Amino acid sequence: MQAETEDPSTEPEVTPGLVDKYGRVATDLRISVTDRCNFRCTYCMPAEGIAWKPHDEILSFEEITRLVKIFVELGVKKVRVTGGEPLVRRDIESLVAMLTEIPVPELAMTTNASKLRQKAGALADAGLQRINVSLDSLRRERFEVIARFDGLDRVLDGLDAASEVGLDPIKVNCVVMRGVNDDELIDFAEFSRKTGFHIRFIEFMPLDGDSAWKKSNVVSLDEIVETISARYPLVEGDRRGPAAEYAFADQAPGSVGVIASVTRPFCESCNRVRLTAEGQMLACLFALEDTDLRSLLRSGASDSTIAEAIRGTVAAKWAGHAIGNKEFTRPTRSMSMIGG
Ligand code: SF4
Repeated sequence: MQAETEDPSTEPEVTPGLVDKYGRVATDLRISVTDRCNFRCTYCMPAEGIAWKPHDEILSFEEITRLVKIFVELGVKKVRVTGGEPLVRRDIESLVAMLTEIPVPELAMTTNASKLRQKAGALADAGLQRINVSLDSLRRERFEVIARFDGLDRVLDGLDAASEVGLDPIKVNCVVMRGVNDDELIDFAEFSRKTGFHIRFIEFMPLDGDSAWKKSNVVSLDEIVETISARYPLVEGDRRGPAAEYAFADQAPGSVGVIASVTRPFCESCNRVRLTAEGQMLACLFALEDTDLRSLLRSGASDSTIAEAIRGTVAAKWAGHAIGNKEFTRPTRSMSMIGG
């Protein structure tokens, strides 16, 4: 890979198209803008937290914006800002404004919403369109056990703030864990019907900081749909992303979706790539290798050189994860360092 500073005037055109050897086209980029978080969710990081990356290892807003611009030129249509917790990064709305200016066709964020009351207006003004809020329990004590943070009220207030400023759609991501919160499926369905928020149940994945994941703790898509349908009949909808989607048969507001990475993997139609807070590109959530885009950025590489590195990473993308198979190897990074 070239290191010396390159002359932008001789810059060849960046031609769109991030296609891998299985013919999948990457159009969805998830960028982690920080590895830090004010929560300590049990399925994400150890109770003591993780050793945060020093600030100078984290990409600046200018570096993130330059990379996203190249990804968009390569055909990325949707960018999701994640973390850690993106709202703990100062002036995050400035980054949203910089990305909106590129422009990014579809700009979304995933947050734990504990700071959303303060930030919702500024984020919407900066161009944020849609939001996903992580919420794994509607019961205060249990919320605190899972997040290791007494924050349910702030999260619910954050959801209201998102609704007030017109972010749409508003989705609620709930990681379902057997024996932890799987008795709240109906509560979440009722929460969706009452608020109109779209619930996205996520099958528990082996990305937890405590490495406590067991397949037996996974509550499958079939179980989730069966449990809810028994009370509120569901109608399956078209699949537009990683989630299998269901509307309420009685046309109540809201909807239910299930991201079944473990029991119904959707790798064959995967269109996602990731960028970590320290500028490493991952072709897959479970990738064991990454591409160091930060070094290219900071060593004066040109946009076309960076574009080639991105294209090469996608071209080399594997078929998918092998969770549950003996050849499956857990990534060394926990969820908070990848950004989900
Ligand atoms: S596991 Fe990897 S390949 Fe499969 S859907 Fe997720 S990111 Fe895509």
